[in-house]
Amino acid sequence: MSDCLFCGIVAGEVPAEVVYEDGQVVVFKDINPKARVHLLTVPRIHLASLEDLESQHDELVGYMIRLQSRLAREQGLEQGFRTIINTGRGGGQVIFHLHIHLLGGPKLSTF
Ligand code: 5GP
Ligand code: ZN
Repeated sequence: MSDCLFCGIVAGEVPAEVVYEDGQVVVFKDINPKARVHLLTVPRIHLASLEDLESQHDELVGYMIRLQSRLAREQGLEQGFRTIINTGRGGGQVIFHLHIHLLGGPKLSTF
């Protein structure tokens, strides 16, 4: 097994509540949700963070971002949603496999 937790989820070796997957991404529920809806979208390929991106990944990342509104709609987030990408320890990143947080529901804090 890879020592990357999210690669383990992508490979089906680590259990997760997967809500969507296709050839490029896997989307699953955050284990410690910060809102009623809290999903993580990860690419199937291992990219540590935004710092790892090269031009060859533009299509993948564009797809990951475009997917968010569809996921939000499917989760019933008619009023809107928040997306977050933490990058590096200083940015609050804990898992070093690129992921987009999708948050939504009542009592989403403002900042
Ligand atoms: P980061 O701070 O790296 O942007 O976010 C990592 C996220 O992964 C956190 O919100 C954390 O709750 C979530 N997480 C950590 N371990 C697991 C796990 O084993 N399964 C799932 N589904 N989420 C996890
Ligand atoms: Zn990984």
